Amino acid sequence: MIFKSTRNPNLSVNSKEALLKGISPEGGLFVPENFPKSGSVSYMIDMEYKDIAYYILGKFLTDFTPEELSYCVNSAYNDKFKTSFIAPLHKADNRYFIELYHGRTSAFKDMALSILPYFMEVSLKQEKSFDEIVILTATSGDTGKAALEGFKDVENIKIAVFFPETGVSATQKSQMQTQEGENVYVLGIHGNFDDCQTAVKNIFANKELADNLDIERIRLSSANSINIGRLIPQIVYYFNSYKLLLKYNEINQDEKINIVVPTGNFGNILAAYYAKMMGLPVNNLICASNENNILTDFINTGIYDANRDLKVTTSPSMDILVSSNLERFLYHISDEDTNLVNDLMENLNKNRYYKLPENLMEKMEFLQGYYATEEEANEKIRTTLKNEDYLIDPHTAVASVCYDKYLSENKDNHKTIIASTASPYKFSSAMLKALNIDDETLDDFEKMEKLYELSNMEIPNNLIDLRDKKVRFTNHADKEDILDNLNKFIKGDLNA
Ligand SMILES: *Cc1c(COP(=O)(O)O)cnc(C)c1O
Repeated sequence: MIFKSTRNPNLSVNSKEALLKGISPEGGLFVPENFPKSGSVSYMIDMEYKDIAYYILGKFLTDFTPEELSYCVNSAYNDKFKTSFIAPLHKADNRYFIELYHGRTSAFKDMALSILPYFMEVSLKQEKSFDEIVILTATSGDTGKAALEGFKDVENIKIAVFFPETGVSATQKSQMQTQEGENVYVLGIHGNFDDCQTAVKNIFANKELADNLDIERIRLSSANSINIGRLIPQIVYYFNSYKLLLKYNEINQDEKINIVVPTGNFGNILAAYYAKMMGLPVNNLICASNENNILTDFINTGIYDANRDLKVTTSPSMDILVSSNLERFLYHISDEDTNLVNDLMENLNKNRYYKLPENLMEKMEFLQGYYATEEEANEKIRTTLKNEDYLIDPHTAVASVCYDKYLSENKDNHKTIIASTASPYKFSSAMLKALNIDDETLDDFEKMEKLYELSNMEIPNNLIDLRDKKVRFTNHADKEDILDNLNKFIKGDLNA
């Protein structure tokens, strides 16, 4: 399997190079040259999560030896997860929630970030032009912690995380600021997620920095979903969920299903699209947004207009205006038209706006867009607990509302799975507010306990344990100063 760039038709690399580079030199994203066929899921019926991971990943990472791939898969999908199912299905409210939050940091980012460090470790072994990698990560809350936990104390790798000071939940902030490990760095930024993401992209494009690092045999890479090594492992759980539905006799062989994904950077839903293109029987993909409904507008009108204010909501991982992975989707639906992608991305850069050519609108009919207001999402959290005895986090609630809206506009009997992307305990304050029982006198941990009393759903240990962890990183900076801080970290001048 060869990987190409969304912006340069002449570039091709193997998976190890794509993983280590993270982003293509001219700013494009790496994409597979084709979608390998999965075959019928009925063949996977007795496979465990790990087996399906090995099977799907093997179709993309063809330059990994079987031993290398087994090593990665076995090191990632083990007791790092709280359940041997890795990603179990929960049926409630006439839909199926894939619980993607049983990893070490209680968000779906663990699904890919548990394996990405092993991919890099293996890829680095053969690399002759540099000895060390510095991973840069912009985070809207969950990626940062999952990446820190994945890369902490991995040999020859350093990791720096930039998060928006005011855009993450108290628990998310505490998760990052207490991070252990000798090779980690965490910095709060005065700005929003888009500011963090743009700053990181600019650092990647900084030729002078790259040249300086080259001399020291250091390479920058990314743990954001612009890295193809984030995307491919996410395909696995859609196949695994389908297998579980088959196994529990909830669907017949080859029966089509809908998939609803609470969307921010468009990575998770893109993985669902890849699964569909590989042959997973998918009817519609439903892209769920919160009040930052730029993707809803885009899907319905073909106009991507980021000239609007970013709202801070209770589903912060979706508070994003520039969804990086949409670029890959545009590349695929335009039949790999790199000229078009370049034009659209240039427009986005210059004018924060682009319009999709008319003929491409029909190529994305299977992609439906809906959004939920804060009040609607809160209501859904309440009713799901009351009627189904099931706690869903604010992101998942947004997705569930969007599915209701989809159903009210479409006659559709397909079984539907919803990506449940975070543990409700990461957002206990917002959860209690939604349940109308917020009590400002409680601290974050007392809020978790209160939620537990209401739901009887176990509190993840990694979150309760934060109470006793030492805060290590309290620094914050303007976005203009990210590069300075990064340089100091790389040189070892920051003793955090
Ligand atoms: C990252 C995240 C999302 C958005 O996923 P994308 O792949 O960025 O679209 C949704 N919910 C939660 C809880 C997340 O952490």
